[in-house]
Amino acid sequence: MNDRLLKTLKGITNGHARASQADLLAYSYDGTPGFQAMPDAVVSPGSAEEVSEIVRFCRSEGIPIVPRGSGTNLSAGTTPTAGGVVLLFNRMNQILEIDEENLTVTVQPGVITKDLIDAVEMRGLFYPPDPSSMKISTIGGNISENSGGLRGLKYGVTKDYVLGLEAVMPDGSVIKTGGKLAKDVAGYDLTKLLTGAEGTLGVITEATLKLIPMPSSKKTMLAQFAAMDQAAEAVSAIIENRIIPATLEFMDRATIRAVEDFAKVGLPLEAEAILLIEQDGAEAAVNDEMKLMKEICEKQGAFSVELAKTAEEANNLMTARRSALSALARLKPTTILEDATVPRSKVAEMVEAITKIAAKHQVTICTFGHAGDGNLHPTCITDARNTEEMHRVEAAFEEIFKEAIRLGGTITGEHGVGEMKAPYLEWKLGASGINVMKLIKQSLDPDNIMNPNKIFGKSEKKRVVVGR
Ligand SMILES: Cc1cc2nc3c(=O)[nH]c(=O)nc-3n(C[C@H](O)[C@H](O)[C@H](O)COP(=O)(O)OP(=O)(O)OC[C@H]3O[C@@H](n4cnc5c(N)ncnc54)[C@H](O)[C@@H]3O)c2cc1C
Repeated sequence: MNDRLLKTLKGITNGHARASQADLLAYSYDGTPGFQAMPDAVVSPGSAEEVSEIVRFCRSEGIPIVPRGSGTNLSAGTTPTAGGVVLLFNRMNQILEIDEENLTVTVQPGVITKDLIDAVEMRGLFYPPDPSSMKISTIGGNISENSGGLRGLKYGVTKDYVLGLEAVMPDGSVIKTGGKLAKDVAGYDLTKLLTGAEGTLGVITEATLKLIPMPSSKKTMLAQFAAMDQAAEAVSAIIENRIIPATLEFMDRATIRAVEDFAKVGLPLEAEAILLIEQDGAEAAVNDEMKLMKEICEKQGAFSVELAKTAEEANNLMTARRSALSALARLKPTTILEDATVPRSKVAEMVEAITKIAAKHQVTICTFGHAGDGNLHPTCITDARNTEEMHRVEAAFEEIFKEAIRLGGTITGEHGVGEMKAPYLEWKLGASGINVMKLIKQSLDPDNIMNPNKIFGKSEKKRVVVGR
């Protein structure tokens, strides 16, 4: 970036623009293995007005903009593969208002998810979306990826809590969508359009989110199975019995071992699969449903079903599940976590298919995930330096995505398309579906400055390639 451009960005942001090699390198990659590209500058705006000025300036100069929260996305959503300006929100990280009357919270995009959850919890309120990355991820990133979490089955995902947004559009104009209203059908639903847009349609500068009352009681249970299909059948049976648990998580044997080695919470090393089940609500109903789910698990072959005896024990179990990726990442130099999603009735079939596909391509894939949502995380532990193995990994994931689609599922349940999954998008949407999305993108961002190469990128499945 030449001095004139950098000077302008510094001028807009009161000095918060940088372009040292160290800064550029630090923002050249995100949570996605195998993707890296250097930006030209890193800029931290302090307000929507500054974002608007930056966007107008970048548009006039044809400079791409990559909005970035904490960079924890797993789909190469923030790798600046067209160069340009990485926009950070570390100066826009305030919880602006917790409105207890309307049950809403208004935040800036850089607020850390867990900080928001904790802040509203202190008022007896509940913000359910809880991606496993919540201690690091930002609300702006969660909204832009429409992130889910462990509580998705009962409580839905981020989009179910976004009531209103303030956003800077690619022409620099600032729009406000929705608000604190429980009902608002005035025109197209722009709130939903911007949610999950992966930073390709504009920059979110403020969000108003829905809160709900904190459930009065919560219980956690661990069910152990000697066979993977028994656990998957138990998931279907629980839902068939009209129970919607707050959490219904699944881990296979390899994941259990890695997590136990990492978190040491006493997970059963002899189990082939476990289900981690949580229910919340009124105490009597929670007790009844936990009892019924225990019976269902036992009927499906669980050899042990134990309720957590203390809040600490329950918390340890949930933390252990949330650390699955970190635990697996210790086993080999490269960890690739995917999120093929199928209708929940097909979980057993999908788990079996993943096992067969991994064996066929001779790669190690551990599987865990939000079984109740049908959202599985087949996770390959490998070594990106071994190009031959990486090609087999790629082939295995390609088959896994195809199988998910064949079973009525999708190529991503929560991680977004980014650049990494762009080559597979047509399998899910078809050419006509992609065309509609492209028309929206082109009409809002004709110069393609907002996070280019994402969602519709020309990426050639290049998990094995590093560099721009
Ligand atoms: C250990 C681990 C566990 C994870 N667990 C989960 C999980 O359980 N569920 C889940 O859904 N995901 C999970 N993820 C993926 C990731 O954490 C989520 O996608 C998260 O929402 C990203 O937040 P972020 O702040 O890091 O955003 P980033 O990664 O920085 O950005 C994500 C996307 O949002 C865009 N963006 C960011 N801020 C803005 C803004 N203000 N305006 C417009 N666009 C913006 C970016 O351009 C990018 O496209 C996990 C990742 C890791 C590493």
